[in-house]
Amino acid sequence: MTAQDTPSGSTIELVALTKHYGGGSPAVDSINLRIERGSYCCLLGPSGCGKSTTLRMIAGHESATSGDILLDNRNITDLPAAERGTAMMFQSFALFPHLSALDNVAFSLKMKGVDKAQRQARAAELLERVAMGHLAQRKPAELSGGQQQRVALARALITQPRVLLLDEPLSALDPFLRIQMRAELRRWQKKLGLTFVHVTHSQEEAMALADTMVVMNHGLIEQVGSPHAVYNLPVSEFVARFMGGHNVLQTPAGKVGVRTDQIQVLPLARAQAEAATNRRAVVSDVEYQGTYVLLGLHSAGAPVSAHTTAEISVMVPEASFAAQPFAVGDEVQLAWAPEAAHPLAA
Ligand code: ADP
Ligand code: MG
Repeated sequence: MTAQDTPSGSTIELVALTKHYGGGSPAVDSINLRIERGSYCCLLGPSGCGKSTTLRMIAGHESATSGDILLDNRNITDLPAAERGTAMMFQSFALFPHLSALDNVAFSLKMKGVDKAQRQARAAELLERVAMGHLAQRKPAELSGGQQQRVALARALITQPRVLLLDEPLSALDPFLRIQMRAELRRWQKKLGLTFVHVTHSQEEAMALADTMVVMNHGLIEQVGSPHAVYNLPVSEFVARFMGGHNVLQTPAGKVGVRTDQIQVLPLARAQAEAATNRRAVVSDVEYQGTYVLLGLHSAGAPVSAHTTAEISVMVPEASFAAQPFAVGDEVQLAWAPEAAHPLAA
């Protein structure tokens, strides 16, 4: 395959896509989504929210109960997996341990009955493409995690997909490798120009990778947007809590989200002098985190016991904390700019 005949990614459209496994509520409940050609899309949400089911329906490994899946306006809802132009990459890459890198990559062509010389030539080309040509004869155990990932990528690419589907590909890796591998996935996606749909339950991973994040909850899509848009303007209490870094607060104006780094903590005396009025609170936890100090607080006047958990979190930059430290039990005033608070749907 040369750069000239590289297929660019497809646009994916899900139209009222639904999966009922039977019994209670649907695993995927009439979702509508458009994923742009050549973009990196992350399906994000807690365990059981329907991410893998959505991905498997796109792959053709699971039938849709109703609704449609379109790739470049072609309805693929009822096509066999092999005819869709999609390929899957699984957790921990799922390479065959007893096969060389070359035979792993060639495997699906062997299943299709492509003759040996042809499939090995094609697998060798793909290994070259992911800079693994020199290691073609190694078994997976003789390769680093990063090299294994590239073999898995070459194996997925051998069917010339226009869409690569990845189900928690990094979740079984140790944290250091996970961060390295996600950077590499992102580079390959940009280089190949394919559409990637990547399932993860990690908001950090989704933010690092995605052009578009799709936050799911109970089979429904809660929010679609760039990481920046979703993090800065979560539409609902669920998204604000799931993304983290936000406080969900009751105010006279209703329920609002305020980022933990956008709340100011003032000593009571100074607060009264400056007439800050937002809310009185008591410090219940002080955690040093390196570049910032994380304060846990509860509203003044709320009942306190050994089991009281902080309702409000505030990230204070380390230097500000050093200039004005707080200790557990301190009464403080919290203040934030009106524009830092945005309304949340329940
Ligand atoms: P996620 O990938 O977000 O963790 P899944 O798509 O795997 O979620 O599952 C969504 C819901 O569908 C869950 O309630 C799960 O138990 C259910 N489910 C998934 N696969 C099956 C199956 N093969 N048969 C019955 N129920 C399933
Ligand atoms: Mg899953």
